[in-house]
Amino acid sequence: MLEHDVIIVGGGLAGCRAALEIARKNPSLNVAVVAKTHPIRSHSVAAQGGIAASMKNVDPEDSWKAHAFDTVKGSDYLADQDAVEILAKEAPDVIIDLEHMGVLFSRLEDGRIAQRAFGGHSHNRTCYAADKTGHAILHELVNNLRRNGVHIYEEWYAIRPILEDNQAKGLVMYHILDGELAVLRAKAVMFATGGYGRVFNTTSNDYASTGDGLAMTAMAGLPLQDMEFVQFHPTGLYPAGVLISEAVRGEGAYLINSEGDRFMKSYAPNQMELAPRDITSRAITLEIRAGRGINLDGSAGGPFIYLDLRHMGREKIMSRVPFCWEEAHRLVGIDAVNEPMPVRPTAHYSMGGIPTNNDGRVLSSADGLVDGLFAAGESACVSVHGGNRLGSNSLLECVVFGRRTGAAIADFVEGRKLPEIDEGRYIEEAREQIQGLLDRSGNCRIGELRQEFQDVMTQHCGVFRTQSVMSEGLEKVQQLQDRYQQVYLDDKGKLWNTEIVEALELRNLMLVGQIILTGALNRQESRGSHSREDFPKRDDENFLKHTLAYYSPAGIDIAYRPVALGMFEPKERKY
Ligand SMILES: Cc1cc2nc3c(=O)[nH]c(=O)nc-3n(C[C@H](O)[C@H](O)[C@H](O)COP(=O)(O)OP(=O)(O)OC[C@H]3O[C@@H](n4cnc5c(N)ncnc54)[C@H](O)[C@@H]3O)c2cc1C
Repeated sequence: MLEHDVIIVGGGLAGCRAALEIARKNPSLNVAVVAKTHPIRSHSVAAQGGIAASMKNVDPEDSWKAHAFDTVKGSDYLADQDAVEILAKEAPDVIIDLEHMGVLFSRLEDGRIAQRAFGGHSHNRTCYAADKTGHAILHELVNNLRRNGVHIYEEWYAIRPILEDNQAKGLVMYHILDGELAVLRAKAVMFATGGYGRVFNTTSNDYASTGDGLAMTAMAGLPLQDMEFVQFHPTGLYPAGVLISEAVRGEGAYLINSEGDRFMKSYAPNQMELAPRDITSRAITLEIRAGRGINLDGSAGGPFIYLDLRHMGREKIMSRVPFCWEEAHRLVGIDAVNEPMPVRPTAHYSMGGIPTNNDGRVLSSADGLVDGLFAAGESACVSVHGGNRLGSNSLLECVVFGRRTGAAIADFVEGRKLPEIDEGRYIEEAREQIQGLLDRSGNCRIGELRQEFQDVMTQHCGVFRTQSVMSEGLEKVQQLQDRYQQVYLDDKGKLWNTEIVEALELRNLMLVGQIILTGALNRQESRGSHSREDFPKRDDENFLKHTLAYYSPAGIDIAYRPVALGMFEPKERKY
């Protein structure tokens, strides 16, 4: 049996930062990272606009407290304020640490790290590497893993964690290359498996963002928190949904409707294009609904609005947001120096996830912990984003809580022995599961079922939601889950059988979708990204609390846990 002191599932920013911290704290520990992609292909590499920290390089008035306030207000007061305090306070330190590691941040004239404006932030505090920030950070982190002797299992797909008697003991995984199954045992297991954008048909996320870690956690009987809060980013390039970073608006771009109006003045007169994402995505959706969207021939009544960079000029566009220019040019043939870009909201980020305490330890219930199981990054819910995340706070969360979780893991495994596991039993169960998929004789194609499911989620659980539309959506999702039994695989081989991975991912996607819809039906209020047309107001009396959703084959049970308040009193959000 393969064994390591620590197994981290996920090679993105959160997983890599945690692994590095463990190696730094105790170089004698044997740490492994398991990833279904090469770590450098994790979605973190696609992060564009930047990472927030009150460095005060551009704006001396900034402070950690201002950052914390913006984050809590942005979250619509659902974030846990003790976690937000840690996020904002530790931010400058993790940035300097990244710089010392060699991350190539963009610079001011005097050599200090440059900082730009971002939505919902009251000061210019977002550090960046042009519009390729994730690329710059992830490459350094992965290099550091190699330097520190962390073992990397790349293109291994994690099937399930091994949890016995409320203790994490290891992992079952599948080698995509040759179909080999393996059990890893360890003293601690961490999930850093990223988001689930692929639940929706239009998303900024990569193909691997299928919520595997969330589904594996739910199937193990553990709760998921606040899953109804799905972030729709305002500016997905039409039609693909590929992201055009908020940095473009941070650098001064306008949003305009078919009448040429900067319509944000009706929705957020002070912050305009730099209002938080929930508000901006709703504004765009309402403009399109009111017939002020635009068609490809430029006429009114279409499915998108314009992101207009023209007044920024070629030099600024090419130096500050070159990748966004390139994307629009490559994908839709637009030269943003001379033409506006067609954009509309796209599914982008998961505020909810695996609930953890501030050291990344996974919760088994509202007040219990699982021994040896940890999570951080987008798959976790610590919760610093509450009902709506501010741009550039996610990379920060990965680094701050990745580091803290790594430190907590190094302490946790100290003096512990490797657990005993019945390897044969786990291998046999996994073999039966895979063989069961290969033996199916149904007539349903994976791609068709996935497309139908993604369309249902987009139509029934989008930017605006109502009871009747969501109930119908949940019924449809359950029917599609039944049809999953009829999924048929063409490829019966062992070598690089991507259909097996897609089949496992599809089951996970549908489970995550079912939990999102159930949580959204239960939350009868509008808060952050969760906008109920039948309950248009925030209802602190009944819903200022976190949702915990427990999955079982019989259905999903909902419970709640309190929000950590203290620093800032809940108020109405105005921008
Ligand atoms: C286009 C885009 C731009 C963004 N820009 C910004 C930005 O500018 N600023 C910001 O703060 N945030 C941004 N975000 C959000 C931010 O990038 C992500 O939230 C963050 O990078 C997530 O990191 P992570 O480490 O949690 O997960 P990821 O980077 O998604 O990594 C997940 C890892 O888990 C592995 N994995 C998943 N499932 C399995 C499995 N079953 N078995 C084995 N391995 C598995 C994957 O292979 C991968 O290595 C952006 C997001 C997108 C999509």
